[in-house]
Amino acid sequence: MTSNFLIGISIAAILAIPAWRFQALDATGAVGAILVGTIIFGLGGLAASVVLVTFFVSGSLLSALPKTRDVISESQDRGRNWKQVVANGLVPMISVIVATISRSHEALWMHVYCGSVAAACADSWATEAGTRFGRADLDILTGNPLPAGLSGGISLFGTLASLAGAGIIVIAAAIPLGGLRLPPTNRSLFAILIGGFSGSTFDSILGSSIQAKFRCSSCHQISETPEHCSKPATVIAGYKQIRNNTVNFAASAIGAVFTALLLDFS
Ligand SMILES: [Zn+2]
Repeated sequence: MTSNFLIGISIAAILAIPAWRFQALDATGAVGAILVGTIIFGLGGLAASVVLVTFFVSGSLLSALPKTRDVISESQDRGRNWKQVVANGLVPMISVIVATISRSHEALWMHVYCGSVAAACADSWATEAGTRFGRADLDILTGNPLPAGLSGGISLFGTLASLAGAGIIVIAAAIPLGGLRLPPTNRSLFAILIGGFSGSTFDSILGSSIQAKFRCSSCHQISETPEHCSKPATVIAGYKQIRNNTVNFAASAIGAVFTALLLDFS
């Protein structure tokens, strides 16, 4: 167990430090990623690590691609902070802890773990790829055109990217010694794919309905942060307290729940 944690902290540091150097994470985000990574790698072993590394590396590589147009994003330029890391990592971390404690339900909880990571990966791929290569963003609930990158917007390319992001986690879960630690069935892999895609779709629904949107009093741009141009911005939609991190956390939880509901261990 101790050696697992030593290997875990090493892998986490090897991934987080370059991500910080290349500004995919800020300093607090790197510390958060090392903590979350060490717990998941230490308790989940190689099996859980393959899934998390797939998400982290693919998301970081996509976010490092050059931006093709102006995109509204929340502090992406300075790298993800610890709150963003926790919003994506808390449900996977809890799932691995429960899988470790409850050995009789280990298989169920490792599926739930994979489903929650699949939701985060699907959302990350949809955002990073969709905002770069998607044509027009439409509001998922109203169908109205939205500025690129604004939460609640979807595009055909972004939706395909979301499915692909969940799909790459399915592959990481299915390879020998991958996330599931047991021979996967078609049904269990389907559960992770649909769980992940549902979580990402739910992210857009919450983004369109209850997530706060602000308008800057200086430049009049729509923003997802309560400050713009170093001034407080006015709420124009959603609830002031509900922001990207809350929505991301809810999406990974939905990914976990949908995966569990689609499984059949009877
Ligand atoms: Zn502004």
